[in-house]
Amino acid sequence: MLKKAIELLKNDDVVGMPTETVYGIAGSIYSEIALQKIFKIKERPFFDPLIIHVSNIEEAKTLVKNWPKSADILTDKFWPGPLTLVLEKSNKVNDLITSGLPTVAIRMPNHPIALNLIKKFGSPLAAPSANKFKKTSPTTFQHVKDEFLDNVYVLDGGSCSVGLESTILFLHENENVLEVEVLRKGFIQYSEIEKILVENGFKLKKAKLGNSILVPGNMKNHYMPKKPLVILKEGKALKDIKINFNTYVEMTLSNSPEIAARQLYSQLRISSQGKEHIIIFKEMNWHAGELWEAILDRLLKAASEVC
Ligand code: AMP
Ligand code: MG
Repeated sequence: MLKKAIELLKNDDVVGMPTETVYGIAGSIYSEIALQKIFKIKERPFFDPLIIHVSNIEEAKTLVKNWPKSADILTDKFWPGPLTLVLEKSNKVNDLITSGLPTVAIRMPNHPIALNLIKKFGSPLAAPSANKFKKTSPTTFQHVKDEFLDNVYVLDGGSCSVGLESTILFLHENENVLEVEVLRKGFIQYSEIEKILVENGFKLKKAKLGNSILVPGNMKNHYMPKKPLVILKEGKALKDIKINFNTYVEMTLSNSPEIAARQLYSQLRISSQGKEHIIIFKEMNWHAGELWEAILDRLLKAASEVC
């Protein structure tokens, strides 16, 4: 299995790769053909950059101009894991990956198959989520098969244990003053990041991001299921909206944010089968905590209407 995936990567092809966050569609960062294929298969516009996946820190260091001390502290604690660092890129990184930005996004996934694949292939892999542009992310082998049929070879790594895309953190270090900004919320929370950096003597400052560094793929519509998702705000009932009662399926999520994160994309896919709409009632406890905020961020982008 791994052997076949490596063969494909060596031949400028792409493969479906399980990670702990979501499944990715991976290609060699040094193959322009493979990089082009990723965008083509996903129908992704070239302005939306890719995350580079590494299997060790040394690889990451070769991809950036400077590897700051804060990156050592964060990767010591959170890698391998669902934290992506955005740092100034080195000239080893193809502009196709970064959409021409001066920065590159890097992470080390916490999944044995992904780590083994990168290690045995011998160099980092660029891998966005394995779904068509703006559509629901995949968290199982079958989700990727359903999305790309037989056009992509996929490694089966079971269900993703986190189920939500990585936290993306922009970092710019100058002496011990650190400009930071969470570009995308995820499983690793800002409070944890802040705590460890402050403990290590850093003064944190909110980064001033020019237009060029804003998260390019952070569009209003994203993660969208096949049937329109309608979110009902707290206190709103079905009678308050105009949707016909026979045409919806209600989607529910666990009260535990860790479980809800893991369920989210599967639930969106399952709920898309059959009825014309998906309805979810927004719960009071969804406000409490950063992980709920990350889940709510995905739901709001996946929704066609919030009533
Ligand atoms: P995906 O792997 O599909 O979740 O997409 C990767 C996302 O990472 C992109 O949509 C961007 O939001 C973000 N990203 C990648 N590279 C950069 C970068 N250099 N600066 C800011 N955000 C980035
Ligand atoms: Mg994605």
